[in-house]
Amino acid sequence: MGIIDLTIKELNQKIRGKEIKAVTVAEEFLEVIKKKEKNIKAFLEITPDLALEQAKKVDEKIEKGEEVSEIAGVPMACKDNILFEGKKCTAGSKILENYIAKYDATVIKKLKEKNFVLLGKTNMDEFAMGSSTENSAFQITKNPLDLKRVPGGSSGGSAAAVSANESVYALGSDTGGSIRQPAAFCGVVGLKPTYGSVSRFGLIAYAPSFDQIGPITKTVEDSKIIYDIIKGRDDFDSTSFSKKENKKEKKTIGVPKEFFEKGIDKEIKEKTLGFINKLSEQGYSIKEVSLPNMEYALSVYYIIVCSEASSNLARFDGIRYGFSEKKAKNLKDTYLKTRGIGFGEEVRRRILLGTYALSAGYYDAYYLRAQKIRNLIKKDFEEIFKDVDFILAPVSPILPFKIGEKTDDPLSMYLADIYTIPVNLAGVPALSVPFSKIGKLSISVQIIGNYFDEEKLFEFGKIIENLRDYD
Ligand code: GLN
Repeated sequence: MGIIDLTIKELNQKIRGKEIKAVTVAEEFLEVIKKKEKNIKAFLEITPDLALEQAKKVDEKIEKGEEVSEIAGVPMACKDNILFEGKKCTAGSKILENYIAKYDATVIKKLKEKNFVLLGKTNMDEFAMGSSTENSAFQITKNPLDLKRVPGGSSGGSAAAVSANESVYALGSDTGGSIRQPAAFCGVVGLKPTYGSVSRFGLIAYAPSFDQIGPITKTVEDSKIIYDIIKGRDDFDSTSFSKKENKKEKKTIGVPKEFFEKGIDKEIKEKTLGFINKLSEQGYSIKEVSLPNMEYALSVYYIIVCSEASSNLARFDGIRYGFSEKKAKNLKDTYLKTRGIGFGEEVRRRILLGTYALSAGYYDAYYLRAQKIRNLIKKDFEEIFKDVDFILAPVSPILPFKIGEKTDDPLSMYLADIYTIPVNLAGVPALSVPFSKIGKLSISVQIIGNYFDEEKLFEFGKIIENLRDYD
């Protein structure tokens, strides 16, 4: 096994044990990126100077006999909606094409304190709106498991980079599935933390009542390492808090019947149910549970996220940030042209939908009603967690689709998120872990936990890794 195949833990041990220099590791990854990027296109920007400088610092510390952290010298990639001071941050949008971050996101600040090494910023659907990374204004990322297929989205660049061994781990963001689904499509592990457990300060907002930053890694153990670093209350994000998890010893797994009823690929269904059987043989008790309001989840999600996005994205007006159309005749024309040219089709569609849902006369019928149903869905989860420790479910009803297959049909793209969205509506955490393969493609289950039960998710995630049917 070469350097690039190693996990965070393995690589960090080698660096700390002086078996290999952090600079050599960074050089090796930069070399791999150079070779693979023309096919994968995971990165929007590669930052070799920074990576080598950060790695050198680690080597110097080690030379001096100083203690270094559990991630020191291990190279990573960061989704391009998370701010790193002095580096471009585009959110996959033309409107932010030349925007340079003025400060660090809290997660970046925390990683800097641990001497992390940044290889570059990764591709994503524009403003994180999408499920395939095809909505990026800049390039289409390919799935490393099958180059004709999408890597999922919106954190497709991050998941592809880890899957292709271009990076050891990556950060993504998950509003409706954007960490778990690309992780599943690319055969790697993805965590959507409990809403509020990781600071969103410095994350370019899509829908702030849903958005969460989380790790994409090769193993569950690595996922825990990164989560433990980035989690916690931050004064710059009033929705963030630190909380000890609930301790419960029983091992009951809830399987929501609605996830297996319609629209699910036959093979994914069979394999997932087979895996649940395997868990029952291991002594877990399996309980059928129900999310009675699941049928409304998709509509509710899209009404609320589009509403939040339409309000959030109002700040991109060609005056304060990024791109500004110079040919405009006056102020109003500047707004119209900048936003018309700067935003891509999907983003414009969502701004229109959101503005409509929030407009006078429609607010009660759409936005307010959606919020009420969001609350019911949250209650459904709370009800289920009275009886079970985890909910186990597929991440995606379908296998990674072909590039271009769904770009003309936004509704069918939206439907692909049906299993990840309810989790974000409720705000509970979920870990996506690969457990089987279909041909060269990978499939994952997600373990959904109660609020702040991340530790339990990691423990159970490791068991799932051990029970998977391939090496
Ligand atoms: N695909 C979903 C959407 O487009 C989820 C995206 C995300 O989690 N950022 O809204």
